[in-house]
Amino acid sequence: MELPIRQTVLDQAKAKRIYVFHEKSSLDHYRAQAYVVRCVDDRFFRVYKNYLKVGGINRLDSKTPAGGAKVFSSPIKKGDRDYNIRELELSIRLHHVNRVMLFTHHDCGAYGGFAAFDNDHDKEFKFHSKEHEKAAKYILARFPELIVETYFVDEHGIVRTSQ
Ligand SMILES: [Zn+2]
Repeated sequence: MELPIRQTVLDQAKAKRIYVFHEKSSLDHYRAQAYVVRCVDDRFFRVYKNYLKVGGINRLDSKTPAGGAKVFSSPIKKGDRDYNIRELELSIRLHHVNRVMLFTHHDCGAYGGFAAFDNDHDKEFKFHSKEHEKAAKYILARFPELIVETYFVDEHGIVRTSQ
């Protein structure tokens, strides 16, 4: 079929499926080794990624809301938590998730940054540990069959705050 002369480049791309990048993706169904929730903050992306890699986790369902696990412990709106519970439910159903890894981090803007803790490392860490407990409890109340792990990330690495 001939395209109209004045058609835009985008229209042509849609009509002919002109790729801007080529890479093969496997269409095999998978079992997610973990459902991972971390903050969108890119400063801690590398350490997070390396930790999962070292742990042999390469198939994961990953969520990056601001504040990470905060969406379960202290959501800005109740609906945020409901939405994230629904997302988790889908991953359990579609990708057979049985392990959840929740992360929060040092100097998180969603918690008001380090200043919100008077620049006190212990105060910040204790607060986050409580947040982790709250988030894990909330998830386990709905999905008691899951294993829920919680982690705190700072400039030195990652601390596990659950058993
Ligand atoms: Zn953050």
